[in-house]
Amino acid sequence: METRYIFITGGVASSLGKGIISASLGKLLQARGYEITIQKFDPYINIDPGTLNPYEHGECYVTADGQETDLDLGHYERFTGIQTTRDNSVTTGRIYLSVIERERRGDYLGKTIQVVPHITDEIKRRILLNATKRHFDFVITEIGGTIGDIESQPFLEAIRQLRWELGPQRALNVHLTFVPYLAAAGELKTKPTQTSVKQLQGLGIQPEVLVLRTEHDLSDDIRHKVAHFCNVEVEAVIQSQDLPSIYEVPVNMQRQGLDAICLKKMGLTPGEVPELGPWHDFLERRKNATEILDIGLVGKYDLQDAYKSILESLAHAGTYNDRKVKTHFINSEYITRENVAEKLAGMNGIVICPGFGQRGIEGKIIAAEYTRTHDIPTFGICLGMQMMVIEFARNVLGYADANSREMDQTTPHNVIDIMEEQKTITQMGGTMRLGAYDCEVREGSKTWEAYGEQPLVKERHRHRYEFNNRYLEEYQRNGMQCVGVNPAANLVEIVEIPSLRWYIGTQFHPEYSSTVLHPHPLFMSFVRACISEMQ
Ligand code: GLN
Repeated sequence: METRYIFITGGVASSLGKGIISASLGKLLQARGYEITIQKFDPYINIDPGTLNPYEHGECYVTADGQETDLDLGHYERFTGIQTTRDNSVTTGRIYLSVIERERRGDYLGKTIQVVPHITDEIKRRILLNATKRHFDFVITEIGGTIGDIESQPFLEAIRQLRWELGPQRALNVHLTFVPYLAAAGELKTKPTQTSVKQLQGLGIQPEVLVLRTEHDLSDDIRHKVAHFCNVEVEAVIQSQDLPSIYEVPVNMQRQGLDAICLKKMGLTPGEVPELGPWHDFLERRKNATEILDIGLVGKYDLQDAYKSILESLAHAGTYNDRKVKTHFINSEYITRENVAEKLAGMNGIVICPGFGQRGIEGKIIAAEYTRTHDIPTFGICLGMQMMVIEFARNVLGYADANSREMDQTTPHNVIDIMEEQKTITQMGGTMRLGAYDCEVREGSKTWEAYGEQPLVKERHRHRYEFNNRYLEEYQRNGMQCVGVNPAANLVEIVEIPSLRWYIGTQFHPEYSSTVLHPHPLFMSFVRACISEMQ
């Protein structure tokens, strides 16, 4: 089958859940046996979100091939189990960069370089790129931002052209809008949706399918009205009502036939509705898991989205262990020796979060000491692992000034040091150790058991600093074992204290690869340890 393209745009407001709708549609098409991929085109100028503060757009998600991307790619992977690549995340910055580089090389032979056609051609080339490398039946492209944003215009022009060039059988526009409820009038309002569709039509795009985000059930009347005013068939007006969990969205979309209508519009026969058995089992189990497990997240970003993948990984592992994980953000900036017991009270386990820079690290170290000395299950991730290592140096090895080179350039006890390959790097963007690397796991270790006795795993990274191997012997002699090592570079990737119930730190980010149907083994094992802590 020739590759078909589905474009997802959003109108009226941001944060309506375009990423979740894209991921859900991908999931549903996949369940029908189609090969799919999902990509995100972001209109901002940054080359990638790697240099963005998490307060701007939330977590930076890293693909297995080492691209720093938008957190929506995490949803795509968690919903569908696909592995996205650097081709699945494109920004205005990347588009302009390649056009400008080509111009400097002289490739345009003296032409004036313009938004149309040069920028739009490059956007089109990137939209089609994934399917030139391997076969996909469907490529779903989510356009970031909202219709009407100045930056979105070239992307919309590109998808307008593609729809025209590929024809209605091979290209389809799905538009997500918002239907607000005015409490004072007691009414749902469709005008913003009508305006948003008109705006799209003004750009030459007729959406074939509308997904209406709403807090209240839309009556048939409303769906008819929207269909009538927007030139869309009634059965192609789908409602996306607030649900208790994002993972219910695919089921809700399937019930309303979102995937079936997309197939029909593209000239395909939908056939039988797939059962989504394992997905339903997950939802059922999730619903029945009512017993609460309290997990503290020690970090510095008081923003849900900053730790998105960690929260989702804990939720997956909680469900498969029949628990409802309740996460409690504990701001490490305010943790002191005096209040740590109180701050961590009632937690069945602690995650020490990833991060960069000085702010809040002393609180992470104090938390690591407290959980180590009180044998509370603790999972340190990236910077979190580094803080476990520093804490151990300060309080067990007796190096009171131990630190990471990131925080202290001059400490004689740099137990966390800058990686050799990073020393000469001056540019900040896309230059960390990124993506999936092999890690050999020591037989008999707790981590090895957690991984189901696998001797070699592959996990994703995003860091510049590493465990300083000069201290390896000393750590191991004193009870902290380095049980995961990258064989090519001899970098320590995992530390654990075997005498404790669960005290494991990973230099990599296991949270990037936990999915709904395949929860990550380390999160599974951590959650199990937190449950036994309760008993
Ligand atoms: N700042 C640390 C480093 O660069 C940890 C990074 C992280 O937690 N992702 O090594």
